[in-house]
Amino acid sequence: MATNRTFTMIKPDAVEKNYIGGILDKINAAGFRIVAMKYTKLSKEEAGEFYAVHRERPFYGELVEYMSNGPIVAAILEKENAVADFRTLIGATNPAEAAEGTIRKMYAESISANAVHGSDSDENAEIEGNFYFSSLERF
Ligand code: ATP
Ligand code: MG
Repeated sequence: MATNRTFTMIKPDAVEKNYIGGILDKINAAGFRIVAMKYTKLSKEEAGEFYAVHRERPFYGELVEYMSNGPIVAAILEKENAVADFRTLIGATNPAEAAEGTIRKMYAESISANAVHGSDSDENAEIEGNFYFSSLERF
């Protein structure tokens, strides 16, 4: 069932470079409503759990290291067709292949430090949102 919600993180590289404001501007301009948001930092264990689906991939260790390396902004976003529209807004995983005007084209430096996360399905949006937010933290 489509929930019209997706989950995002502004990743440590983008936070460190002061891109939070620029990225939130793009998210607002694209018509997403913020349901929940927090500034936090993942432990190595939490990053490992969040990206557990990539456990077998060669870049898993590097990914967990990088995602627990500095603070992030986590958020639940709402809009019609949220998951697909947000993936379009952020652009390809590798910023070198991301379309002009996308968040990754504008703010990402590499495939491993690619500025933002976006859920890839309604089911994962639900799981990922629940990883960070209780029902009392959603508005
Ligand atoms: P995300 O899940 O963070 O939104 P994505 O869905 O575009 O990204 P995934 O295939 O889910 O891409 O990969 C998760 C993350 O793992 C990527 O965002 C990237 O940071 C990292 N990653 C993916 N492929 C590579 C790779 N070949 N080398 C290094 N890191 C990679
Ligand atoms: Mg993904």
